[in-house]
Formats: sequence, structure tokens, C-alpha cells
Amino acid sequence: MAEQEASGLQVLLSTLQNSRNKDVILNILSVLTDLLSLGTGRRIHYVISKGGSEALLQALTTAARTEPPDHSTLLPLLRLLARVGQRDRKFGLKVQKAEATDIILSLARRNLGHHLHLTHCLWVLRVCASNVTTGTTLGINGAMELLFKVITPYSKRHVRTVRAAIEALAALLKSKSNSRRAVTRGYLDGLLRLYQDWHHNDVSNNYIYIRKGLLLCLKHITNVQLGRETFLGCRGMEILFTTVQDCLSCKNLDPIITIVTQILRKCYPKEPLPVATARSFYSFPLPGNAKAEPPCEGSEGDYESDGEEEAEKNLDNEDVESKEEDYDLETDVNKLRSRPVLDRPEEELGQYEAMCPELSHNFQEFESESEEEKSFEDRTESLPSAPSRFIPSAVSVKHPNQSVTEMGPDPGEKDFQVPLQSWTKKEKSRWDQTDEKRDIAEAARDADSCEEEDPARITLRPLPKDTAWDKVLDDVRRLIQPDDVIGRTVFDLDEPSHSSPAAPGCLTFFSKFESGNLRKAIQVREFEYDLIMNADVNSNQHHQWFYFEVRDMKLAVPYRFNVINCEKFNSQFNYGMQLVMYSVKEALQGRPRWLRAGHDICYYKNHYRCSAAVGEGVRGRCYYTLAFSIKFPHKDDVCYLAYHYPYTYSTMMSHLDILEQNRNPKKVYWGQQTLCQTLGGNPCPLLTITAMPDSKKRDDLEQFCNRPYVFLMARVHPGESNASWVMKGTLEFLVSSDPIADLLRKCFIFKIIPMLNPDGVINGNHRCSLSGDDLNRQWLTPSSQLHPTIYHAKGLLCYLRSIGRAPLVFCDYHGHSQKKNVFLYGCSIKETLWQAGCMVDTAVITEDVGYRTLPKILDKVAPAFVMNSCSFLVEKSRESTARVVVWKEVGVLRSYTMESTYCGCSHGLYKGLQLGTQELEEMGSKFCLGLLILHLKSLPCSKNVMAQAALLLDLEEEITDRTQRSCSNSCLETDDEPPCAEELDYDTDSCSDGEGDFSELDQEIQECLSWVEGQTEDEGATMGQTCSSKALRGLYMSSQPGSNSTALPLSPTALGVYSGFESSPA
Ligand SMILES: [Zn+2]
Repeated sequence: MAEQEASGLQVLLSTLQNSRNKDVILNILSVLTDLLSLGTGRRIHYVISKGGSEALLQALTTAARTEPPDHSTLLPLLRLLARVGQRDRKFGLKVQKAEATDIILSLARRNLGHHLHLTHCLWVLRVCASNVTTGTTLGINGAMELLFKVITPYSKRHVRTVRAAIEALAALLKSKSNSRRAVTRGYLDGLLRLYQDWHHNDVSNNYIYIRKGLLLCLKHITNVQLGRETFLGCRGMEILFTTVQDCLSCKNLDPIITIVTQILRKCYPKEPLPVATARSFYSFPLPGNAKAEPPCEGSEGDYESDGEEEAEKNLDNEDVESKEEDYDLETDVNKLRSRPVLDRPEEELGQYEAMCPELSHNFQEFESESEEEKSFEDRTESLPSAPSRFIPSAVSVKHPNQSVTEMGPDPGEKDFQVPLQSWTKKEKSRWDQTDEKRDIAEAARDADSCEEEDPARITLRPLPKDTAWDKVLDDVRRLIQPDDVIGRTVFDLDEPSHSSPAAPGCLTFFSKFESGNLRKAIQVREFEYDLIMNADVNSNQHHQWFYFEVRDMKLAVPYRFNVINCEKFNSQFNYGMQLVMYSVKEALQGRPRWLRAGHDICYYKNHYRCSAAVGEGVRGRCYYTLAFSIKFPHKDDVCYLAYHYPYTYSTMMSHLDILEQNRNPKKVYWGQQTLCQTLGGNPCPLLTITAMPDSKKRDDLEQFCNRPYVFLMARVHPGESNASWVMKGTLEFLVSSDPIADLLRKCFIFKIIPMLNPDGVINGNHRCSLSGDDLNRQWLTPSSQLHPTIYHAKGLLCYLRSIGRAPLVFCDYHGHSQKKNVFLYGCSIKETLWQAGCMVDTAVITEDVGYRTLPKILDKVAPAFVMNSCSFLVEKSRESTARVVVWKEVGVLRSYTMESTYCGCSHGLYKGLQLGTQELEEMGSKFCLGLLILHLKSLPCSKNVMAQAALLLDLEEEITDRTQRSCSNSCLETDDEPPCAEELDYDTDSCSDGEGDFSELDQEIQECLSWVEGQTEDEGATMGQTCSSKALRGLYMSSQPGSNSTALPLSPTALGVYSGFESSPA
């Protein structure tokens, strides 16, 4: 059957190619037209696969040679070519092979006086030009000159032809050589004038598609440097900026505004970032002979040369990315399976025995302590019994002056003071109101304490398009109306004299505090400031995290801030994420908390570039602007603004003290040691948490020692403060009096490094350590000198393995800036090979699928966690991360990176909400619950543990309950982001703008048919000469209902129709 169908179509196509009989050809064209005008694109693709394009092109060549040209054949042929060609990816090549470019061009030339025929030729021309090479050939052969004869100033006559010409020109201008040729011939200026003319005369917005088409021409032509320069010279910025103002209030002009803002952003003259150097203000002399200048990695930003080649790179970014991802997969089975040799002498591991005192502890002090414990137990009993929300009531100041790194040109200036950590409101009420200055400072440092926010109030609102337009146009106004711009530097780490005293009426900025990183603030207009973040120490990049103080604000005024040196190509700020703010006056009034803040937030590529001199080898790097507006809650307040809820090193140290003091020492074994000193001389804490043995009896002590290990870490990337909040939730749960925590402690020994990169956190880095290295890319061969925390964390893990105690679970807590939800990355050989398309011999490779159990459990018990977002692929570019190295070298099957969003959730209970610290902490405690369930599922358990667990967790019920809930919310939704990404078009060089939309041209062609039927008057005058409407009506008769062809079955499988062709009058 299928063969018959195919042969039917093939007979039809070959007859079309070879027949000279006009009636036969007309009949075939009519059948094809009917076929393809019904149903979906699948039919067209089928026809293409059977050589449809070639047959039609061949028929065109033949028909065009006939003298005089027979338009009754040519017109349906051209329509079919336009419809088929736009869906044929190789159409351009086929046109060249059939040597049809000249034929189409000369057909168009001959029909300059006949608009209907000309329109048909232009459609095909446009489709041919969608292939850049063919477009270039057409350009060389004079296609643009031809089109410019057709494109007229505003006129109601022949608008279809004008539209077809403009759209064909836009397609031609995708070729850079065409764009250059067009600029040289002065067409750019012409296009601008035409656009102005249509804009001014089309007051009723009847010809939006013509205006849009002209803008598309301008958009493509300005992809070349020469085009941008000429555009500026022709006052293009002013013209588009002025005309678009009339469009902003009109609802249906969105497509126009979108393209105009894209062109304006792209053509805005590039400027170097207004700083003396992109290199961090702070530098740190490295020990030994280590090189102080780490190579610049370009992996995260996107780069653009100033030359001509910048634009035509990725027309389809997503496609390229997914290919790159697959290419990145490790496909070498031997590499995946082999365990590398130890990176250090075996003897060196001995030193880590001291970090496992629990293994040799004899608990001699057990008896003597019991009295003290008794009294303690009384105390703890009276604590509020909400264990997972354990909020210690005591304030601890055990580290009053933590020695922290001092550096920079003026040592001592970056005077880090340790926040006096307080976790309760009561503390604030004790403040001495007379000493307001002290209070403010204290409250500010206390800013790390977070009250819960009601998630219902922090709903994710998708970015309205006009927000982005307003911000971009405001930026362009700086160029158009330079007199408006104040341009006064009001804060500058490099030039302290700028910073004080502030000019009247102007905000005062400050960032020399722990985790602060503002480098420079420039007042642009009265209520608008450009902000520049400092690069990571010893580096010139990684700008993302920000944290600074601002004061002297007015009430009820929306201030606009632009963080102008962001690097990532997109941000959750475009999908509803807000930054966070802490108001000292609010704190003094009893509301000490960080809140999500900011409105009209958007994120887009700006006109700043990293120049060669400033960027030290990363010339041409693009920057992005994070723009947001804020109304401050009080006049003359002191406020703190940050990328995300801060969590400083000092906060953590205080928190550890509080946890230790408030635990029940009879039940909770708590060990706090120093893993090592960091490069900056800060101690990196290592915690051991488990249950105290039930007694000194041998059995109990043995059980104590033999508990499997769980190894957790966080904050290797200092900007990922969300990871610390998750870790806080884990720690609080682990030491809490919750009976589940009690049971969990009896099951495991927890080794925890809550902050792997204290130096980075203290200095306000986003990604690196003081050496300028990403510490999570050093795990293969960490240097004991440069990466001490990684060296020793790995050492401890290797030691555990060497004594046969490799952890059951390893998890490194991170934050993910591009995605929503919380999820795990793990490692699987088979999934990696499958994904890479390698043949997997399951007999040779056996793999324990136990790595999937924990994420599956978390999907059910943790509301923010989404299994679908998890991935278990081993990428080459990740071979030196903790996850991959611990999996491969330490042999931990369940080795994970846990990624938590900065933003919110797209699935489950928190769908559509931004996460606050409470939800992040909840994730940390649910992770613990997940570990307990994992233990019960995967390990042999004592009857005792099982019985207790059964009492505590009504497991089955809980799990089914959660499953239902998460299913009902998640099954339908698979999309990660709302669709506004395309609207904003982050990459202004991109040529994808919906102009190649099939349905639009199809619609044009369809409309043309009915137009031919009805014959409008003004077109009729020209048409009547060569082609009567009667003839046309006869020609299209077969496409009308009731004609013989409607008998063809219209089954959705579509191809069944071809069997009928055998009997068609061929
Ligand atoms: Zn990270």
C-alpha cells in the first residue's frame, strides 16, 4: 500500500517534470495545490522527501522558457514553490543546482509592470533568499536593486506587492555581503526614510506588516559594522527613538516596538565599562611561586568580536547548546569505569584519623557528665517543640573578632566586623535608642537574620514586555538627550574621594563590609544610578552576586538601579525573580528581615564591552544590565540590597555556636574541628554529628562506630548563599529534638563542611577563592597550598575510603542561577552512554541504580524538589567537580550536587512562588528525612530502628500523599520558563525573529487567491491586460469544494490519498 502511494506521487512528479502538455501540467499542479493546501505540513514534507522541490523547479525552468511566458502555468507553479520551498531546508541548494536563480530574477524583471505576477515571483525570491548562499548569489545578480524599484513610499496601491518586496529584501539582507552592498549603495538611508514615511502616514495602523518588514531590513543590515556606523550617521537612533514613542501607547504595535528596541540596543555605540580595570579591586599575593594571574575562562559569558563576523553565529542558540552538551558527555567507558590512583602518597592520609575522633572515642566521661546533662535536659524540654523550625534563643559572641582577610591597596580599610548575630526579635528591642548610629550599624550587621516571609506574598510575576522596553528606551535617551545625564560618580572603591561627602539629594553607597562587593556607583539622573560590581579577587570576572548599603533616600520615589556589568546571558530576573532588601528602620520598628524587593526588573545585553586594555585579554566580552526600581520604605533609612538572602561567614560561625550550645549533649554527639586554614587564614569548620551511644556497653559503642557516613558540604561558590540556607536547615534539623532527627542520628555519622570557601564569602566573591580559582574545578588534583579546603576535604574522604568507610551519601550544596526548583545532579555510566547515543552492552556494564533512590524519595517528601530536573550525566567539563571525583575516586555511588534555585518553583506545592529562606531551610531538613527513608529502604536495619521508624513516619501514607500532590501539580507542566525569552531576544544579533513563520506566507498566498477571485479595483486595472479574472477562476476551480478532487480522503495520516493518483489523468 505504502509503496503504491509513493509510486503514485512519484509518477505525478516525474510527469510534471517531463510533460510538455499544458493541460496535463495544469492538472497536476491543481492536484498538488489541493493536496498541500489541506492538512498539515507533514504532507509538504512528504512531497519534499519524494523530490517535490526538484520537480517543481524543473517545471519552472521549462515553463519560463516558453515564449511568451504562460502565466496560467507559472502562477500556480510559483505558489507551490513558495509553499514547498519555505519548508525545504535544502531549497537554496536545489535552486542553485537547477540554475533557477536567474530564471526567477528575470521573471520578476519582466513582470515589474504586473503586480500580481510580480508578487508571485517575490514570494519565491524570498524563500530562495532564506538560504544565505543563494541570497548572496541573488544579491550579486541585482536582486536588491530590483526590489528597491518596487518598494514605494506610503501608498494604498499594490501594498501586497510592496510587502512581498520588503520581506524578500529582509531575507536577502541576512547575507552579510548583501548587507554591505546595500549600505554602499545608500539603501540604509533609503530604508530609514521609507520607514519614517510609512510610520507617519499609516496613522490607522493598517500596514503594520510593511513597517515591521522595513524594520527587519534595518535589523539585518545593522548586523554588520558598516551598517551600524551608517545607521548612526543617518541619525537612525534619533529616528527610531522618536517614532517608537508614538507606538508605545498602542496595544497591537508590540512587534514594532520589539524590533525597534532590538535595533537601538544593538546600534548603541559600544563603550568600555567605566572602570580603570576590570580586574578586582582586591588582589591577594599567592604563596610560593603560584601564578597570580589565572587564565581567563570564557566558558560562562558570551563573547563577540568587534569585527564583522559577530552576528551570524548562532541562529538557533538552543540547538547549538544541546549539541554542545551532548558533545561534552564522557563516552570513554574506560574513563567512566576506572578508578584513578590516589593523588597523594598513601601515608599522608593518616593525618585525617584525627578528624574522625568518633571512631576511637571511648566515652569514659559518660558518667561524670550525666548530672550536668540532667539539668540541661530539663532546659531543653521547655524549648518550643517545633523541631524542624528550631530557632535557638541564645545569642552567641564566641568569635568577637574573627581574623579575616585584609587586603587591597589600603590594608585595614576593608574593615570586616563580625555581625553580632541574633536570631530573635527580643534582642533588637534591647537596643539603646539614644545611640542610633550604633544601632544602625548593629542592625545592619544583624541583617543576616531572616524572618520568614509568607510565600503567598512573593508570587512570581512574569516580566511585562513594556518594562523591558521602557528601560531600554531610557538607556537610549542618554545618547539622544545627553544633557539630561548627570554622570556623577558617587561611590568608587578606586577613588575614595568620590565617596564622601555625598552631594546633596544624592544616595550614599557603601560596601566595605563582609560579603559586600559594590565597586562603583554613578548617578545617571536624579533617581537613577549605574552600579558596577567588583570582580572576584585576583580575577576580572564572575560578576553576579551583589550586596551593598544605600542611605539618604527620599520617601515614595522609585529609584532605578542598573547593575551594568553582569555576565550571564540570561537571568531568572526576567522570569519574576526579585532581589532582596533589608531596611534598618524596619528592623528598629521590630521587623528585622530581608524581603524580596524591586519592581520593573529586567535583564538585557547592554552596550558596554570589555576593552583589551581593561579586560586583560578578554577583549570584546559583552556585559548585561540588571535593571530594577525600588521604592524605599522610609525616608533617610539605611538599606541593604543584595542578589539573594545573604549568609556570611560570621553568620555561619555564630550559628554553629548556637547549635552547639543548644543541642542536647546527652543525645547529640557534636564535634567541631578545623578542617584547615584557608588561604586567607580563616578556619574552615568541619562538623561531626551523630547520636551519642545508648550506653557504654560494647554493643552500643560498636553500633556507634559502625554507623555509615554521610558527607555534606556547601558554599564552595560564595555567591550561592541559598546553599547556606539549605545547609542551615539541614544542621538545625540534625541537632534538633525531633524524634526523626533522633533516629537519623542513630543511623548515620554526619561529616559536614558547611562553608568550603570562607574567603570567597567574606570578600563578596561570586564564584572563586582568593587564588581566583573556581574551587569546584580543582577536585582532580587540588593543591594543598592554593586550594587547602578542597585538598583536605578530598583527603578526609579518601581516608574514609582507605579504612573501608566511604560515605553512603555525598552531597555538595549549590545554587543554580538559571533554573527553578531544587534538584540533584548525580553520576551514572549507563545514562551518560545512552544520552551520548553510544551502544551500551548491558552484559559488560553493570550498574547499581541506587543513585536514583534518594532523588525519588526527595521528590515525594520535599515540596521544592523536582525529580524531572535531575540529571545523572557525567560531563567532561565536570570531571574535576566534587560530585564526579567523589563518585569515581572515592567510589560513592550516591554522589550528588544539590542545586537550589535563587528564584522559585515551577512545580509542586510552591509552584509560581519565589522561595524564601524558610523554604530553603525546609529543603535542608527534608533532605535529612530523605536520608532516613533511604536508610530504611536500602540498608539492613535493626528491628528496633524499623519499629521506631514505623511509629514516626507513616511512610506509605506520607509517600502516596505526596505523590498525589506532586503529580496533580506537575504532570502537565514540562516547560521550564514562560515564553517571554523570545520576546526580549537577549542576543540582539540573532536573526530569528519569527519572520520566517510559515503560516504568514501561507496566509498571504491564500489571501491572494481570494483576492484574485474578488479582484479589487485598483489592482484590476493592471491585471486585466494579461490575465482575465475569468481565466484565473477557471484555473482555481479545482480547489473549490464540489470539484472532483474533494473526493480525496482527508485522513490525518494524509498519505493514503496518493493511491488515487494512479488513476489521475496523467
Ligand atoms: Zn555552584
